[in-house]
Amino acid sequence: MPAEPTDPAQPTDPTDPTQPKQSGQPAHPARRDLLRTGLATGAATALGLAATTGTAAAAPGQADRTLTLTGHLPTGAPDFVYLPVEVPDGVREIAVSYGYDKPQVPAGTPGNSCDIGIFDERGADVGGDGFRGWSGGFRTEFAIARDTATPGYLPGPINPGTWHVVLGPYQIAPQGLDYRVQVILRFGAPGPEFTPHYPPERARGRGRAWYRGDCHLHTVHSDGRRLPEEVAAGARAAGLDFIVSTDHNTSSSHAVWGPLAGPDLLILPGEEITTRNGHWLALGLEAGQFVDWRYRSRDEEYPRFARQVHRSGGLVVPAHPYCPYVACQWKFGYEQADAVEVWNGPWTYDDESAVDTWDSQLAVALRGGRSWLPAMGDSDAHSAPQVIGSPHNVVLAEDLTRDAVLDGLRAGRNWLAESVTVRLDFTVTGNGRQAGIGEELTVPAHAPLDVRLTVSGVPGGTVRFLTDEGQMHQESLPTDGSGTVVWRTTASLAAYVRAEVRHPKADGTPGSGNSMGQDLPWGPMAALTNPIVLRVEED
Ligand SMILES: [Zn+2]
Ligand SMILES: [Zn+2]
Repeated sequence: MPAEPTDPAQPTDPTDPTQPKQSGQPAHPARRDLLRTGLATGAATALGLAATTGTAAAAPGQADRTLTLTGHLPTGAPDFVYLPVEVPDGVREIAVSYGYDKPQVPAGTPGNSCDIGIFDERGADVGGDGFRGWSGGFRTEFAIARDTATPGYLPGPINPGTWHVVLGPYQIAPQGLDYRVQVILRFGAPGPEFTPHYPPERARGRGRAWYRGDCHLHTVHSDGRRLPEEVAAGARAAGLDFIVSTDHNTSSSHAVWGPLAGPDLLILPGEEITTRNGHWLALGLEAGQFVDWRYRSRDEEYPRFARQVHRSGGLVVPAHPYCPYVACQWKFGYEQADAVEVWNGPWTYDDESAVDTWDSQLAVALRGGRSWLPAMGDSDAHSAPQVIGSPHNVVLAEDLTRDAVLDGLRAGRNWLAESVTVRLDFTVTGNGRQAGIGEELTVPAHAPLDVRLTVSGVPGGTVRFLTDEGQMHQESLPTDGSGTVVWRTTASLAAYVRAEVRHPKADGTPGSGNSMGQDLPWGPMAALTNPIVLRVEED
């Protein structure tokens, strides 16, 4: 699940480099302006900086140069505030630290929260080349050099020119936000060139088979506390065949996965793009590819970044569309999406909402003859005790390779599993033909069709079959959690059929799919399939 926003007023442990000051989840819903007004809003600071920096070459052995930038951001400040830093020749390392005031606010009113990152001399334009790292609100300091950088930041040349420290004041208290940024320019000979270790695009695999993978995971490269090594170990422990690395708003982790992948574990580069109007996953990026996040729904920038991901062969997947945290609800629509993450971490009411929306869209898409949007489920695990692989996708792929796995997900040939202990097989058979998850069955309108689900690993669970009319059949499993459920329909009655397996409710009852009441009608999801589409054969 997404990192829950913590109270920014709470003190943090300065000795713990992974201690989050607050979540990386952005935003202030009332803020309207987008970018690049740093000089206007943070005027005192930026001007103060300009007065203290220069572009003169440094003499050999020159002492560190320290710049301090302070300023005040009122309600209505831009989403991103750009503080120019003139970097002279001869700088070996740029080290930045920052802080801001946290005045008391009434309960329920957002207090001050401010993210940070940096762009180099190539510029800070949205979609430009200058990105050098972002740590959201997770760290109070970072450093970049040619050979090394704080996780979340990209090692590389420290070229002279105008760099920009970028503040993202995603919540501003009614009193405003006073910030203080310190930049230390350390001079000296640059370290050796950084060598990225990208993961290979294939693992050993078993040919055409069902592969299990968690496509939404965080590390210390954004606001997770797990090292990449720990995430890879957790994926193996969860019985996964593949994972996608999706740190927020940075590509820095891509370069470290190489030695952690292996014949038994495919690791794909990705990113979670956390805009002010929702989060989306870019899955299967090119190694080192960065996708910009600095826009809102009304800026109309999102489609071009979705296209950028599609050009690279990756998937665009809106994440946790109904997460209630500030700026986490999805407001960009589903036109550019390849799938939607309807199940994010432990099952909660917002997942019910996501499944309901997704289900409604299935019928609309099939009526219009368009391709339907597949469902996905991922853990979004950041730190213990969040469980890597709960849930995950079980995808039918031609092999355990980047392209084959992405093809399977794009086609919706996947079901969503709470854990590796849940096993499932789902088919529709009729008129001498059979179709599986994500496939189509074209048959005479009134030909009898047998819908069959075989499942294990859900003790006391309840199987639900749903069509475009809603739930049409439910049947509980025995205490050993295994069973086969069969139900008959026709293509004239159902445009699609999909299955859910639910745990019992908290009171031990199975739930009832066609009733209404004050409580949620079902216990947590254990498994959810993509639909099998039923089409009526033309005469
Ligand atoms: Zn998110
Ligand atoms: Zn996430």
